[in-house]
Formats: sequence, C-alpha cells, structure tokens
Amino acid sequence: MARRHPHASFPDLKDTVTIAGGGLAGLSLASGLRLRGVPVTVHEAGSYPRHRVCGEFISGVSADSLDALGIRDVFHDARLLESVAWFSRGRKIHSDSLPEPAYGISRYRLDERLRDLALEHGAVVHEKSRLPREPVPGQVWATGRRPDPLFPKFRVWMGLKCHFQGLPLEADLEMHLGRDGYIGLARIEDGRVNVCGLFLKGHGGRLSKIELLLDYISRTGNEALVKRLRAAEPDLGSFLGVADFKLGERSASDDDLGLCEIGDADRMIPPFTGNGMSMAFQGAELALDPLERWSSGRISWDECRSALRSALDGKFHRRMQTASLIHPLLLRSAYRRLIESLGISGLLPFRPLLSLVR
Ligand SMILES: Cc1cc2nc3c(=O)[nH]c(=O)nc-3n(C[C@H](O)[C@H](O)[C@H](O)COP(=O)(O)OP(=O)(O)OC[C@H]3O[C@@H](n4cnc5c(N)ncnc54)[C@H](O)[C@@H]3O)c2cc1C
Repeated sequence: MARRHPHASFPDLKDTVTIAGGGLAGLSLASGLRLRGVPVTVHEAGSYPRHRVCGEFISGVSADSLDALGIRDVFHDARLLESVAWFSRGRKIHSDSLPEPAYGISRYRLDERLRDLALEHGAVVHEKSRLPREPVPGQVWATGRRPDPLFPKFRVWMGLKCHFQGLPLEADLEMHLGRDGYIGLARIEDGRVNVCGLFLKGHGGRLSKIELLLDYISRTGNEALVKRLRAAEPDLGSFLGVADFKLGERSASDDDLGLCEIGDADRMIPPFTGNGMSMAFQGAELALDPLERWSSGRISWDECRSALRSALDGKFHRRMQTASLIHPLLLRSAYRRLIESLGISGLLPFRPLLSLVR
C-alpha cells in the first residue's frame, strides 16, 4: 500500500533516494532528506503500528541530531529516564543517575509516529513492500538485523520482549545480569514497563509466550525477577521474539554485495549498551550529506557509498569495539562475579564505561 501526504510534491531536479526498511534508521533518514528537498520513497516489509523486540530505552542521541533529521517532536511526551539500577542474580550491585536523561517510548508508538512524520515531510511510504537484496544506485538499506551466517552451527541469540502493567521498579531502567543472558526493564508510556531480554538460545519447547519469557529469565538465575513479573500484568499482544541475528561489526564471513547500509543492517551494537536506536538515528544523520550530494548529481553513487562508509566507521568503530569486549564478560559467571564485587564495593566505573559506548 503506497501512502503519500496530500501536500507531497517532488521537485524534478533531484534523483529519488529509495530506502529499503521503514524502521528507525529508514524513516528518520526519509524525514531528514525531505527537509533538504530530496525526493524519497520508503519500502517497508511490514506495516504500522507494530511491536518490535527492543528495550525501548533510547540513550546517547543529541537534540541536534534529532533536529537535523527533523524528528525531535516525536519524543515530546516520551518518559524521561534518569536513574538506572544494575542487578546480578537478584542482588543490586550498582545504582546511578544517567549523565543525560534517556527516552522511554514504545516502538509501537515511535515507529508509527516516524512514519507519519516522514509522510508529513513529503516522503512516499509503501507498506507491506519488501525489496530484493541487491545493489541499486540510489537505494539505501535500512533493513535492520542481519541473519547470523553461523546459524545453525553455533548457538545464537534470542530476543524476547513484553510490556507489563503494575510492575514497580527500583529505577527508571533496571538491568538484570545472569547466566547466558540479561534483561532490561524500562519505563515507557501509560505507566507500562517494557521487559526485554537477550538470551543465548536454548530449547523453548512448547511453552506459551509469557512462560517462554519467564523460562528464559529463570534460566539466567533471576528467580526473584520471575516472581515480580508473575505478580504483574503482561500485555500479551505486545509479546514478541526474534532469533538468529548477528551482533557486532561486519566480518569477512558477511556478504558484501556493495549495498549502502545504515542502522543495524550496517552493524549491530550489543543491546546492553542501550545505544542501537541512537546509532540508527546517528547513521541516518551521517547519510544526509552524501545522499543529498548524490541526489543533486554532485557525486557518483560509488563516491556516496564510500563517503558514508568512512563516516560510519569513524563514528562507530570505538563504541562497537568496546561493546564487543564487554558483552561476553556480562554473560560468563567468572567475570560476572568480578563485576558483582566491583559493583558492591562501589568500584564499578559505570559512567566512564557508559561514555565509551556512546
Ligand atoms: C533484545 C534487543 C534489545 C534491544 N534494546 C535496545 C535498547 O534498549 N535501546 C536501543 O537503543 N537499542 C536496542 N536494541 C537495538 C535496536 O532495536 C536497533 O538497533 C534498532 O531497532 C535499529 O534500527 P533499524 O532502523 O536499523 O532497524 P529496525 O528498527 O529493525 O527496522 C528495519 C525495518 O526494515 C524492514 N525490512 C527488513 N527487510 C526489508 C526489505 N527487504 N524490504 C523492506 N523492508 C525491510 C523491517 O520490517 C523493519 O521494519 C535492542 C535490540 C535487541 C535485539
């Protein structure tokens, strides 16, 4: 289904940018390009509104970046999240305030608002339209998580999420560490809490949605959290799971078809950082200049791609490296015990570590 805002009009002087993927990266890029007068068409495989597997905790993106994309307004009523508490197997090991408030907003609301804004800015959005994965000049890939090329040889990731009502929290964001997985609890709109976990995939058997989530949490050793969730009210319609995706930077085993990629399609930071959504916005912002120059005929498509690739590498390499070093430590018992002791004795360098993954 094609949607076009009634006032949309494309000037003939510029070439159209086509965006595959109407998630955060694709839709924010569409709005940002329209602000610069670039004609844009978005193809989204799904439709709106819909839930997404995501912690729904947005941290590390500046107001300037949101303004460059023309999307700051979608956060006007988002929860401002200011405090964080870390737990390991039910025991609180660290609590802190965040250096800058984060946003708490459901993807159900956020993605639909971004779609509406892109339309308002004059983009054309085709829903239920999946583009084939092939390099086409003028086409940007913002298609999200990449499948893991090692699957099914090795154990891979499972992400599960569900909204809960009536779940009291000790901080705006609670992070629970455990064996082979971690879980984030973030306040979002309407008094709800988003519970989202990343787990090494095991055997779910035939468990129902919520029982599957609780089973995975229980296997991390977080029984106290399971008990709290059992006492709260899940919104079953918001339950969702995804599996078998690849975290981290591009490697030699990934295909390189010569696509122009942003967001998770380009690289996926481990979720404990709470920075993937900000990277989707920041990647879209970095794409504005090269795409505008390509669209107005000032550079070739190859020059556009390579300018974007070096901008993305420059911006994200350090935080990806740091996150990839820390991520395995959170999942292994020996290192987790070290993190627990550092946390309990007040020696966990939370803020310096946070700034390294921002
Ligand atoms: C368990 C988990 C927890 C997370 N928690 C957080 C968190 O708390 N904070 C945070 O900042 N980040 C978090 N993230 C990461 C965050 O969700 C992503 O970084 C972010 O969604 C990336 O945005 P994107 O636009 O690149 O991809 P997406 O938002 O995934 O959008 C991609 C879109 O492309 C569409 N699509 C796919 N293929 C095609 C095709 N061929 N043609 C057309 N459309 C297509 C899809 O339908 C989708 O709508 C988490 C991730 C996981 C797995």
